[in-house]
Amino acid sequence: MSFSDMPVDVGPVYEGERIRAKQMYVELGGPKMEKHFELVRVKPAKEIKDGEVIIHGPDLKDMEQGSTHPIGILVEVSGPELEEDLEAVFERRIHEFCNFVNGIMHLNQRYTNWMRISTSAFNKGFNSFQMLGTILIRLFKAELPIIEKAQVTLYTEAKDIEKPHEFAMSIYDKRDERARTIHDEDVDMFYGCVLCQSFAPTHACCITPDRTSLCGSINWFDARAAAKVDPKGPLFEIPPGECLNLEAGEYAGINEMIKKRSLGEIERIYLFSGMEFPHTSCGCFEAIDFYIPEVNGHGIVDRNYSDVAINGLPFSAMANQTGGGKQLPGFNGISIQYIVSPKYQQYDGGIETIVWMNKGVKDRVEEFLPKDLLPKIATEEDVPDINNLKKWLEEVDHPIVKTWAEALGEEEEEEWEAEGAMVPMGTVGMTIPGVGGAGGFKIILKNCKIHAESIIIKKIDPRAKRKK
Ligand code: SF4
Ligand code: ZN
Repeated sequence: MSFSDMPVDVGPVYEGERIRAKQMYVELGGPKMEKHFELVRVKPAKEIKDGEVIIHGPDLKDMEQGSTHPIGILVEVSGPELEEDLEAVFERRIHEFCNFVNGIMHLNQRYTNWMRISTSAFNKGFNSFQMLGTILIRLFKAELPIIEKAQVTLYTEAKDIEKPHEFAMSIYDKRDERARTIHDEDVDMFYGCVLCQSFAPTHACCITPDRTSLCGSINWFDARAAAKVDPKGPLFEIPPGECLNLEAGEYAGINEMIKKRSLGEIERIYLFSGMEFPHTSCGCFEAIDFYIPEVNGHGIVDRNYSDVAINGLPFSAMANQTGGGKQLPGFNGISIQYIVSPKYQQYDGGIETIVWMNKGVKDRVEEFLPKDLLPKIATEEDVPDINNLKKWLEEVDHPIVKTWAEALGEEEEEEWEAEGAMVPMGTVGMTIPGVGGAGGFKIILKNCKIHAESIIIKKIDPRAKRKK
């Protein structure tokens, strides 16, 4: 496959490229745009004109520098071995393939997709969406040889995108609805995905019926279909092996997989905990589940929310800490679909520990949450900040209030209030090698906040001390 006819280079080497606001020619989709999407559909061969790129709306060269536009990417594919279950996994590749283009940055997925095209790419001659469509078609066919024919339709005008956007949303809903019909105990195989390792080398998603991938795009059915057609590809089977802790969702097979795929960096995963051995997070999680030590509860914020969350931090700041393949107790990248899973963070106390969600998330999940709990979960419209949250939770008699007596001492609370809102760390274990013997020792910091410019840990030689 050649891209020598393109004015810009195309290849995996450009995947990590960042395009900042001042370097961009145009922005497509993203938080400033109301409607945008990307969708892959499997179609009968006769309905596809192979290689065709159709543009509805202004082309790149007709757009003003610095402007923002809607973007809808519809990729239609055909092939005798293709089935509908493969659509979501193919769709996830749009992210990767767009990022292969030197001069395109693509973030997120489904209806949160966000792209920037750099001024330098535009100046080199990358001035038409025809080129983007053609690159996508070539990459889809080359990287996924079971695709025989492909065509791409791009929507860049607000009025043209309405209908296809509505259609795309109905397809996402249909996929999510189906995913809710099965549970971990109904299956004997889990799946993994390493598509995000180019950004987060120690990250691998574990996809089970009760825990959809954190990007929200790949559920258990999708992963199963992908692993079946391409077992050596980025999606693969994980035989669960022995269940080591049912409530936490700890399986020998998952631990083994993550140890291998993270090159020994991560050894254990609790599928259903954000506080102990949480699932790693790459960067494309739909939302973040974060611990709020002040009330011993959890908050959820999604990436569409532009204000600060109840802990005083914007999504972007939390995302920086959460992502990158880390396992950070107290901050866990999740999909929206996982919030409605019956096993949602059940090891930490489950759905009843949720005390705050931004309204956008709450609106999306409310029909699936317990009716009596719903009015007790605050949004930005109910409580302005953390100082008012505690009182509000008491007023609505949130179930978390019952946990306070044992979890929060009055003394500690006053101290926290005096120090203002800070980053919650949850429970963090640090092992310091070479101190206190060959194995080092472990310091467990529970519900704590530390402010320090530096920490010096010195080995004190008792004999030297005596000489003084
Ligand atoms: Fe795969 Fe997970 Fe990345 Fe989604 S977030 S593409 S499931 S590795
Ligand atoms: Zn990712």
